Amino acid sequence: MKYCDTLVINGTTVAGEQGSQPVINPATEEVVASSPQASVSQLDQAVAAARDAFADWSRCDDQVRKDALLRIADRIEEHSDELARILVSEQGKPLMIAQREVAASVAWTRYTANLELKVDLVLDSPEKRIEVHRKPLGVVASITPWNWPLMILIWHIMPAIRTGNTVVCKPSEYTPFNALRLIEIIADELPAGVVNIVTGAGEIGQAISEHPGINKVVFTGSTRTGKQIMRAAAGNLKRLTLELGGNDAGIVLPDADLDSIAQPLFIAAFKNMGQTCAALKRLYVHEDMYDALCDKLVAVASKQKVGNGLDEGVTFGPVQNKAQYDYLNALLDDIRATGGRILCGGNSSLERGYFIDPTIVADVDQRSRIVQEEQFGPILPVIRYSNLDEALAMANDTDEGLAGSVWGKDMELASDIAHRMECGSTWINGHGDLHPAAPFGGCKQSGIGVEFGEEGLHEYTRTHTHHIVK
Ligand code: ADP
Repeated sequence: MKYCDTLVINGTTVAGEQGSQPVINPATEEVVASSPQASVSQLDQAVAAARDAFADWSRCDDQVRKDALLRIADRIEEHSDELARILVSEQGKPLMIAQREVAASVAWTRYTANLELKVDLVLDSPEKRIEVHRKPLGVVASITPWNWPLMILIWHIMPAIRTGNTVVCKPSEYTPFNALRLIEIIADELPAGVVNIVTGAGEIGQAISEHPGINKVVFTGSTRTGKQIMRAAAGNLKRLTLELGGNDAGIVLPDADLDSIAQPLFIAAFKNMGQTCAALKRLYVHEDMYDALCDKLVAVASKQKVGNGLDEGVTFGPVQNKAQYDYLNALLDDIRATGGRILCGGNSSLERGYFIDPTIVADVDQRSRIVQEEQFGPILPVIRYSNLDEALAMANDTDEGLAGSVWGKDMELASDIAHRMECGSTWINGHGDLHPAAPFGGCKQSGIGVEFGEEGLHEYTRTHTHHIVK
């Protein structure tokens, strides 16, 4: 397979001026290919191109932008297989999940194409009319992580382009190839400079956040990096959308039907090997059903086939990178040292690759590291509770507030608990399913702003109020 080794700046493919960096396949620990590295001067060129392109793109007919997005969706669909295979080799996820990621990217692009920016009429009296228009912000920079690299890039750049902004994006240094290829494919459908891509690690991200020519940064990643971006963005008061970490809790009510929830609970926690912002990261289970549910989760875990995502029948891939793998192993050591019971998983029999089998952990304390920290990997702690108020207090006992879930049959009770969870999204009898019409974003330190739907679209615009005296 050929991996794209060029950036796109002002509609032209160019080599990185800062040399190249090997990208590692987490299933084999072998080099996938060398990724180009952009210099800060190339970032400046990309921003300048985006600023130039903004003049026409922001003023062109809305239908032109809509049609461009629809063509882009078609082009991504044509390249589905290629993009999915790139994702597997650099990200590690099984091919079937990668295919779903590409399909979701296509669907999200189409959905965003068909969103409309409405003019809001706030007053229409015989004397006066007040209209609120929505205007694009200018140059939007997207900084993306390594877990769902293609889909998150689509979430960032499609609403930006749709609303008349121009874009400079920077993918994670761990997973650059899907983004480089995507931009190479879609750049042909847009005027030069509307979408540009630079690559590199934190230094380029920092330079983006500080850049005076950029009007907004949309970032998905860790809370630590989100705070750095916020500090760096203060220079020219950039607009920010920050989708940061989450330590999502799930509460299983005493009336839950364990047979029907075990499988969806497992998927909620282990989707993408647990490397999902809105994955279930802590599960609170009533003491009366604790052992029974743990057994059922272990049974689901044991059906997974762990291995290289390109191999037939594999359902469970590696952790994406060595640093994350080492961190998860430190958490496992801590669980063992502090008396937690590892019911399944805990390591892997595979000799190469950053593999950890799906791991269910029982008898851990609320104050333990695996409960307090966002593990972002295939380890689920199950915590016992005896009354619901206690469970809710433990669920809310965190600085983060991305999402949460309640599992049970009594809908009134489930809904009451869901309302009392301190997070941006709650599911009842599910967890983590996103919809392009539903606003998604965190409270507390899980982020600022929302993505998706009309509200998400508005984040790429500013208001322009017209007061018309009749
Ligand atoms: P991780 O450490 O798990 O890779 P990060 O949140 O640090 O998660 O990374 C997400 C994205 O943020 C990546 O594209 C990364 O290169 C970028 N990044 C890292 N440090 C910074 C920074 N100081 N400013 C802006 N972006 C950064």
